[in-house]
Amino acid sequence: LEDFSVVNEPILGYGKSSPERKALQQALQATAARCEEVPIVIGGKEFKTSKVVHQVMPHNHQHKLAQFYYADAKLIKQAIKTAVETQPKWDRVPLSERLKIWERAADLMATKYRQELNAATMLGQSKTAIQAEIDSAAELIDFIRLNAYFLKECAKYQPISEDIKVTKNSLRYRGIDGFIAAVSPFNFTAIGGNLSYTPALMGNAVLWKPSDTALLSNWRIFNIMREAGVPDGVVNFVPADGPVFGDTITASPHLAGINFTGSVPTFNRLWKQVGNNIDNYVNFPRLIGECGGKNFHFVHKSADVESVITSTIRSAFEYCGQKCSACSRMYVPESLWPEIKAGLQREAAKLKIGDVQDFSSFTSAVIDDKAFKRITGYIEHAKNSPNLEIIAGGTYSDSKGYYINPTIVETKDPKDRIMTEEIFGPVLTVYPYKEADLSKTMNLVHTSTKFALTGAVFGQDEEFINCALEEFKMAAGNFYINDKSTGSVVGQQPFGGGRMSGTNDKAGGPHYILRWSSPQSIKETF
Ligand code: GLU
Repeated sequence: LEDFSVVNEPILGYGKSSPERKALQQALQATAARCEEVPIVIGGKEFKTSKVVHQVMPHNHQHKLAQFYYADAKLIKQAIKTAVETQPKWDRVPLSERLKIWERAADLMATKYRQELNAATMLGQSKTAIQAEIDSAAELIDFIRLNAYFLKECAKYQPISEDIKVTKNSLRYRGIDGFIAAVSPFNFTAIGGNLSYTPALMGNAVLWKPSDTALLSNWRIFNIMREAGVPDGVVNFVPADGPVFGDTITASPHLAGINFTGSVPTFNRLWKQVGNNIDNYVNFPRLIGECGGKNFHFVHKSADVESVITSTIRSAFEYCGQKCSACSRMYVPESLWPEIKAGLQREAAKLKIGDVQDFSSFTSAVIDDKAFKRITGYIEHAKNSPNLEIIAGGTYSDSKGYYINPTIVETKDPKDRIMTEEIFGPVLTVYPYKEADLSKTMNLVHTSTKFALTGAVFGQDEEFINCALEEFKMAAGNFYINDKSTGSVVGQQPFGGGRMSGTNDKAGGPHYILRWSSPQSIKETF
């Protein structure tokens, strides 16, 4: 097994006259110029159905970017059959060959297709250039490259010691017979690539249901992986209506696992369906879910105020707060609140919200009409509640795109639903706490929501940090000290949360790949 480079993919800067900006602008133009036709692909064959769907640009919702088709139950069943037949053949392809395909794919993503991926992510998911770059370039490449690296490392650990005169021990990383269903979200193109292709790397065959609102960027990944050498049928591209897809895959005896990122209700529904069908399966399906959060920034009186302000603005408002990890509730000691409040208002007022093709935009529109209604519902709740006061933003318009201005709310009630429910949009709520209530407030942070994805504490006081490490042990799967709650890097901060935030299998960590293998121990005696 040849050596791979294991460094994270460098993030390009997109400065004014940089070559990467020029290349990206060309890709943006080409992508925006047409409505791309995207088929369903099963076993390398393309299909269309009568259920036509469009992906639009959220920041300009009259502009159609892609036309695609929902697979019906019959086609989904056909995809299952194809995957089940392909899996044993694919599993026999030597590891070294699979790793080469992944390395080739990562290189294609880093060079030839980098800007096509970024353009599709920017226009389809309304990400700014830099947010697209850290997602559909850097993180995607890291997932592809580093999961392959982790697999290669794992393969070294067995046997621990060799006594080849008497016995020979080995462990082979098999896939799981059957198929894996990958159900991916809109908010990270990279997650689409990880949910579908990491199980594939481990010898599985996959049905990939991309998000309707990330269709084009996900289609780009699918094509790059094909070009790199992933054989037909290993990953099948199956856009579909969510419930039809869920019902059909969970009804199949061959369901070997679900790799899911999305909402708690959808994951619960899938889990229940698996439970109902448990007597019919060939394997116990592996259920991996990442389901969201209600992430916090907790500030101690010893904190550096400027870093609190910058980190919070970035965490709460980059990509309109549509990262699972985004800060959406904040706790500030009353003594620091006037200064932090003024700073947050000052910085929020500077944020430029606009078209993603304008490189000076800080953020753009939220993903769709459903998100727009949900998020603005919370803003209206803030306007109508006596305990809540909007101190920045609070305005929105969906006439051209789904635009919501970054909104900051001050609350007198730390248990108001705006402090406990996931909003998934650019709304931050702050609770100024009395310093005498420090420990009570810390306790409230993790007892007031069912989520435990990310959290950050800010303070220079060592005793406070130690206390926070204890108090917040179960409050977050990704915990930050004097840094924002977003921006985990593959291989550096494996990502995932506990409680209702998910099964915490840590995407981007060395153990994630093992969840997609059913290894076989072999002992041979001479
Ligand atoms: N890993 C990303 C971060 O740390 C968030 C991923 C997600 O939104 O699911 O910001």
